[in-house]
Amino acid sequence: MKIVILGGGLAGLAAAYKLCRSNEVIILEKDSVLGGMAASYHIDGYYIEKYYHHIFKSDAAILQLIEELGLGGRLEWLRGSTGYFVDGKAYPMNTPFEILRFPPLSSADIIRLGILVMRAKLIKDRAPYDNIKASDWIRKVAGNSVYENFFAPLLESKFGSNSSLVSAAWLLGRVQIRSNRGKDGEKLGYMRGGFDVLVQAVENSIVRAGGIIRTNCPASKILIEDNSVRGVFAGSKMIECDVVISTAAPDVLDALTEKQLGIHDKLAGIHYQGTACALFGLKKRLMDDVYWLNIKDDVPFGAVIEHTNFLPLSDYEEHLVYATAYFQNKSDPLWKQSEETVIESYIAGLESMFPNFSRDDVKWTRMYRRLDTAPVYETGYMSKVLKAKTDVTGLYLAGMFSQPNYPERSMNGSIVAGFECSDAVEGIKR
Ligand SMILES: Cc1cc2nc3c(=O)[nH]c(=O)nc-3n(C[C@H](O)[C@H](O)[C@H](O)COP(=O)(O)OP(=O)(O)OC[C@H]3O[C@@H](n4cnc5c(N)ncnc54)[C@H](O)[C@@H]3O)c2cc1C
Repeated sequence: MKIVILGGGLAGLAAAYKLCRSNEVIILEKDSVLGGMAASYHIDGYYIEKYYHHIFKSDAAILQLIEELGLGGRLEWLRGSTGYFVDGKAYPMNTPFEILRFPPLSSADIIRLGILVMRAKLIKDRAPYDNIKASDWIRKVAGNSVYENFFAPLLESKFGSNSSLVSAAWLLGRVQIRSNRGKDGEKLGYMRGGFDVLVQAVENSIVRAGGIIRTNCPASKILIEDNSVRGVFAGSKMIECDVVISTAAPDVLDALTEKQLGIHDKLAGIHYQGTACALFGLKKRLMDDVYWLNIKDDVPFGAVIEHTNFLPLSDYEEHLVYATAYFQNKSDPLWKQSEETVIESYIAGLESMFPNFSRDDVKWTRMYRRLDTAPVYETGYMSKVLKAKTDVTGLYLAGMFSQPNYPERSMNGSIVAGFECSDAVEGIKR
C-alpha cells in the first residue's frame, strides 16, 4: 500500500515506524523539523525541547520504544521538584509533608485534599465523570476553600478562561498520574541529550526501511472521491495514495477535507488551546532547587520550569529556564503581540517574582508559540474523541485528539495512537 502520513510529530512518526516495514510510506511535515510539539531547538551543540517535556513510569509505550531503539541507557529517572508560588513566595510541594505545611490551606483543608486524592485514585472508570465539571466535583468532595486556594489557580493557569468548563474526568486522570509521590518526591523520566534523540532514532529507522520524509511540506488538501481517499496535495503536486493518516489538529483536518467529512461537526466541536513558551539561557540559576513552579500570582505566565534544576547543568553549561502560558484563542495578546513584546512581558514578570533575577542575567531567548497545543478537556469531551478509522475508505486519524490521549495528551498517548492507527490500517485487531 502507498501511505501518506500528514505530520511528523510523534503520532505520525510512530505510525510510519510500524508501517514502513511492509508499505510505501511518505511523511509530509509542514515545519522544518520533525517532532511536532516535542520538537527541539539546536543550541550551541545541544538539543533542548521547545516545550518542556518529561515522562512518567506509567508511559509504557514510549518506554518500550526507547528500549527497542537501543536507547535505554539514555533514559534517567530524576527528581522533579515542584513548588507553588503564592503571594510573593514559593512553597515546596514535593512530599505529603510539604503539602501539609502549605499556608493557604487550613488543617481541615489538608484533610479534605487528602480525601479527594484518595477518592480520585480509587476511581477506575472515569467515564461517568466526563459530564461533571471539575470545579463542581472538587467543591463537593473537598469544599470551597480547597478549590479556591489550591485547584482554581492551577486550573486557571492550565485552561485560562475555559477552566470552569473542564471535566472531572480530566482532573481524575491528572491526580492519578501525579499523586504517586514517595517521601522524597516524584521521579520523572528524561532522555540525556533530550527527546530529540528519540525523534532522530525513529526518523533513521523509517528512512532505513525505505520511508520518505519531507519537511517544509504542508499538505493543502486530502482528495476524496466516491468516499475513498485518492491522494494528498502538497504544493502544486498531487501524491496519489491508498491511505492517508492525518495527525494534524481537528480544525486543520476539517480544512484539508473542505468540511466534507461526516465527522465535520465533531471536528468543529473539538477546541484546542495554544501555548506561548519562552526559553531563557541564563548566566545564573533562577530558583533554589525547584524544577517546576506553578504560579498563583498575577504574572503573564502560569509556570516557570528550570530545566537545569532537573538535568545536570554540565549537560548544557548554561542555565535553562522556561516561562510558559496557555491561551485560548487567536485574539489573546499572547498570540497577537510580537514575540519580543511577549518575551519582554515575561522578563518583567520574572523580575517581579525573583528579586535576585535581573534582565542582565539573560544570555539569549527563544519563543515557541502554537495555537494547537492541547485539546480543552471540557465536559462532554469523551464523546468527541476521534477513532483511528473513519467512514472514508483509506482515511485514518491519530493524534492528541485520539482515545489514548484522553484525558490528558502526552508523547506516550500520541505514540499509542500512532501504533493503533497502523494496526487499523493493516487490519490488526487490538
Ligand atoms: C507545552 C507542552 C508541554 C508538554 N509537555 C509534555 C510532557 O512533559 N510529557 C509528555 O509526554 N507530553 C507533553 N506534551 C504533549 C506532547 O508533546 C504531545 O502530546 C505530542 O508530542 C503530540 O504529538 P502528535 O504527533 O499527536 O501531535 P503534534 O506534535 O502536534 O504533531 C502534528 C504534526 O502535524 C504537522 N502538521 C499540521 N498540519 C499539517 C499539514 N497541513 N501538513 C503537514 N503537516 C502538518 C504539525 O506541524 C506537527 O508537526 C506537551 C505539549 C506541550 C504543548
